[in-house]
Amino acid sequence: MRLVIMGTAPAIATADQDHMYFLLDGPDGFWLLDCGGSASHRLLKMGYDPLQLKGMILTHGHADHIYGLPVFLQDLWLRGRTEPLPIYANAPTVERCRALVDLFIPETMRGYIRFHVIGDSPGQQALDTPDFSVYTAPTIHAFPAHALRFEPKRSRRVVVYSADTAPCANVVELARGANLLIHEASVLEPVSTIIGHSTPAEAAEVAREAEVPELLLVHSHPALHSDGQTHLQAARQIFTGPLHVARDGEVVEF
Ligand SMILES: [Zn+2]
Repeated sequence: MRLVIMGTAPAIATADQDHMYFLLDGPDGFWLLDCGGSASHRLLKMGYDPLQLKGMILTHGHADHIYGLPVFLQDLWLRGRTEPLPIYANAPTVERCRALVDLFIPETMRGYIRFHVIGDSPGQQALDTPDFSVYTAPTIHAFPAHALRFEPKRSRRVVVYSADTAPCANVVELARGANLLIHEASVLEPVSTIIGHSTPAEAAEVAREAEVPELLLVHSHPALHSDGQTHLQAARQIFTGPLHVARDGEVVEF
């Protein structure tokens, strides 16, 4: 399986960082995790037929994670999609997405859209496909968000994505035994749990507590790209395993 990091921006895009979403690709087909702008365009440029999309998993309802959804759904209908498209998300995110659909997608174009609510029990299985299973847990964020644990069927390499969150015990538990933690690092100084984001050092602490061997930082503050040496110093003292800041387009194999 491979996970393509389509963007790494912490809500504010830069010339180097587009908004954050992923493509998850396996032998059975491909999925989108969150939905940035021009998803169809990006998929086509990468050689994927948008009509073959298996489904989507949305971590939460903040604009930078779901703003591409209405135009993507319209695009799929115009291409002729009639096969049901499952979209998995927690209840508040589904509610927000339904509002977007009501606003932008005429009723005659909605027949193929299928929302599925992911519950809030930490560690529960949310999805099972021929390629992978997904387990989820609520995080600490301004909008209810879910971290995701991917267990592939054909390998033993487990990947966990924190989604947007302050340092979170649920993420530590979800990441335990995983091979790679992809954790957000949106801020350089700690912020309140009401806002709910992490510094690189806080992400490193989560990785250390969960005893994962490798840490990848995403949703990353632009300073981590321009001056990573300085801003990763504290994180490297806490987490001694391989640690780096993901670039847009980076691919994780697992
Ligand atoms: Zn967010």
